[in-house]
Amino acid sequence: MDIKDLQRENIRTLKPYSTARDEFKGQASVFLDANENSFGSPLPANYNRYPDPLQLDLKDAISKIKGVPIENTFLGNGSDEAIDLIFRAFCNPGKDNVIILPPTYGMYEVSANINDVEIRKVDLLSNFQLDLEKIAESIDKQTKIIFICSPNNPTGNSINREDIETILANFKGLVVIDEAYINFARQKTFIQELTEYANLVVLQTFSKAWGLAALRLGMAFSSRQVIDILNKVKPPYNINQATQDLALAAVENIGTVNDWIKITVSERERLSTALAALPIVQKVYPSDANFILVAVNDALAIYNLLVDKGIIVRDRSKVRLCEGCLRITIGTVEENNALISILENLS
Ligand SMILES: *Cc1c(COP(=O)(O)O)cnc(C)c1O
Repeated sequence: MDIKDLQRENIRTLKPYSTARDEFKGQASVFLDANENSFGSPLPANYNRYPDPLQLDLKDAISKIKGVPIENTFLGNGSDEAIDLIFRAFCNPGKDNVIILPPTYGMYEVSANINDVEIRKVDLLSNFQLDLEKIAESIDKQTKIIFICSPNNPTGNSINREDIETILANFKGLVVIDEAYINFARQKTFIQELTEYANLVVLQTFSKAWGLAALRLGMAFSSRQVIDILNKVKPPYNINQATQDLALAAVENIGTVNDWIKITVSERERLSTALAALPIVQKVYPSDANFILVAVNDALAIYNLLVDKGIIVRDRSKVRLCEGCLRITIGTVEENNALISILENLS
């Protein structure tokens, strides 16, 4: 398979924007090439200078953690930017289509709609696993991407590895595996498979386990061909200097992050057990993420009661296959205790 043939024709022939930093990369004492403020910045750091368009220092630090070479790494202003760029680079508006597997993360559909790309929905089975037969039937020559969210939001489960491998082995377009919640999962990442499949894109993010949702920093790992195309299409300075500096500092604190992951996983099990014991709870779905999907007797009433007590959860009760369900993020031990005691007193 040639990834170059998958991209849009106008992207293949696109002459990308060339920044001042692209044209001169070396060391110098006086930079008068980018119309920056030569006097400095009102802030302590070198914020008067444009940031590294390819974020090489930050990618180097990420590469040491993930074991993925820099040239296979793309950084976006959130994974949401990577999702949008994949549409823009690979899908012809009004012509191509993509497959999504609801109930799942909402941005794939929004991004498709913004880019005027047809969405083909293949519902997950009642066990929230892939309907491989229907997926195969939905693919045609214009199908460019299949989005697989694993662990899936809002259901919390990981998608069976063999099913994903079946799709990777057979589908001729891009397979995007969104691993936003992989740090909380028992299943291992698909990053190891990158060398096997040129059409595999693995998305991860600093927004969940890393505790940096406000920075807006997402990662896409893929073949050199895909990464080169994303770099060609992205806004030149898509990751600002403050984010690059702060993320570099954050990766030094990986120990703290790993401690939080352990607590989150143990709290997930504790909260799941406690909730499952309540009469108002019909089912707690097994989770590989930092949230749980819970079917309750009267989702809206419980949602409103929790709001009255100052606790906000996500009402997913109107979502197909999640009828009657609330999605509850795992909080701190104290927050989870507060939630449990309120719901216990209800019962
Ligand atoms: C939260 C989430 C993201 C994160 O997106 P960012 O833009 O990186 O904050 C991506 N995918 C899924 C499925 C999510 O739930």
